[in-house]
Parts: sequence; C-alpha cells; structure tokens
Amino acid sequence: MSDSNKQGMLYLCATPIGNLSDITERVLETLKSVDLIAAEDTRNSIRLLNHFDIKVPLVSYHEHNKYDRAKELIEKMRRGADIALITDAGTPVISDPGEVITNMCHEAAITVTSLPGPCALITALSLSGLDARRFVFEGFLPPDKKERKKVLERLSDETRTIILYEAPHHLQSTLRELAEALCNRQVAVCRELTKKFEEVKRMTLFEAKEYYEQNEPRGEYVLVLSGRSEEELDNERIEQYREKDINEHMAEYEQKGLDHKEAMKQVAKDRGVSRREIYKMLLEEK
Ligand code: SAM
Repeated sequence: MSDSNKQGMLYLCATPIGNLSDITERVLETLKSVDLIAAEDTRNSIRLLNHFDIKVPLVSYHEHNKYDRAKELIEKMRRGADIALITDAGTPVISDPGEVITNMCHEAAITVTSLPGPCALITALSLSGLDARRFVFEGFLPPDKKERKKVLERLSDETRTIILYEAPHHLQSTLRELAEALCNRQVAVCRELTKKFEEVKRMTLFEAKEYYEQNEPRGEYVLVLSGRSEEELDNERIEQYREKDINEHMAEYEQKGLDHKEAMKQVAKDRGVSRREIYKMLLEEK
C-alpha cells in the first residue's frame, strides 16, 4: 500500500499470453497490493482480475489516451499512489502503448520497475529452432506502404534472425510481401502460443505463403525468419564490385586520398581477388 508521505511508483506487470497459469507470484502480489491498475482494455483485464480474485480499481490506458492519462497517473504517483500497468497480454511496452507512460515516468523522476513474465516474441524465438544468438524484433510491420517498403528493403539484407508480430487477417498478404522482398528462407510460423491450439510450423517462406493461401489463418501469430547468410551477402557484394570498371573502382579510392598501392589493396579486397590480379587487370586496361 502507498504511504502518503512517499511518492508512488509504476509497476510494469507481464500477464499471460494465453495460459493463465503463466502469471507469476510476484505479479499477483503486486496486482493485489497497488492502489490502481491501468489496463489497455479494462473489459479484457476484468476477466483476468476476477479469475485471480483481485479487487483493485481499474482505469483504462490505451493508444488513444496514452499521453493525457499518463499525466493523470503520474500526478497520482507523485501524491503517493502505486500503480500497476497491464496490457492485453504479455509484457507491457512490447508493441503496446506502455512505452509512453514509462518514458514520461523517467522524465518525471517516478520510479518504474518491471515484473518479467510472458512475452510472445521470446516464446516464439525459443520455440522456432532458428538461430537465437542474434535477433531483431520488428513488431508489426508499418501499415503505411512507403514505410513498409523501406523496412522490407532493410530486412532483406538483415543477417540476424527476424521476429515479427502479425494479426490473422493480414498474415496472407504479409507472407506474400515477405516472400517477394526477402526471397526464400526458413520461417517458423508460431500460432496461439501457450494456448490449447499452440502450433509451430517450420517451413520455407515460399511454402508458408502457399500454405496460408490454402488455409485461412486463425488466432494470433508470431513469425520468426532466419537472417540472410553472411556468406551470401559477401558474395553479392563482391559480384557488384566486379561489375564496376576497374579504373573507376581505383579512382574512387584515390579520390578519397589513398595512394595507388593502398587503392589497389582495397580494390583487391572488394573484388575478392589478389593484388597481383588487380595489377594485371590495370595493365590490360591501359
Ligand atoms: N505485449 C505483448 C507481448 O509481450 O508479446 C504483445 C502485444 S501485441 C499488441 C499483440 C501481438 O502479439 C499479436 O498480434 C501477436 O502477433 C502476438 N501475440 C500475443 N499473444 C500471442 C500468442 N499467444 N500467440 C502468438 N502470438 C501472440
């Protein structure tokens, strides 16, 4: 409970992404002891709170009131209230409006703590069987066409494992766009994680595109895609350099201030050949 002489704080509480037994003891204790719970969708959260017999006042905190409501909640914390933030499912802030209030708390010198727990991206990554040492989480692809194209272009050369969130009614078109921009590669289509119909389909991106054209997507999805191989990317770069005129390639480095010998060394490296080879090519071009 809050103490009237002390400032309150914000507790970011992770809630289950499907299986209610995944809630942590610490989250339950916190939800029972705070003064107020801010929830993304109060109707949704009431079911969760009723299930655990939690009777703390609820207030909405969502995309459309995230700035104004954050100001009100910060004022309450200043006056001593402890507030828990929960979102529809999973870890607050991850692809949901929690980011705004967290940032505003830092700016207002209100203490924030995070109570870890379920998170769809980590659950999917761990299940995918793809390289989990280096990964990039993109959340939902931007709905704006231009921005989306830019992100897809950038992702096409991404060597780390890529994780995306997607709604079922957009899955088919997203898989089509991904197959076009990223070409064929492994994907783990992770559906209904921690729920009764949990499913992980490992296939190629082209197979996934075809499969979901025949089978209507249902439920919630996370896509985990393998990154581009470093070797393939290096070979493509080398090919592009080799298409350049050798004298122009040399001139690019000499214009940057490298002497002839240094430029030859760099050009040889770019083209994946020896310096002797470059020397021969330059003689032939004379
Ligand atoms: N904050 C959440 C988290 O920690 O994962 C994510 C919130 S985001 C608004 C909702 C998206 O997460 C869904 O559209 C889906 O892509 C993914 N997601 C959430 N629960 C899931 C589940 N049980 N199975 C598969 N994907 C899920």
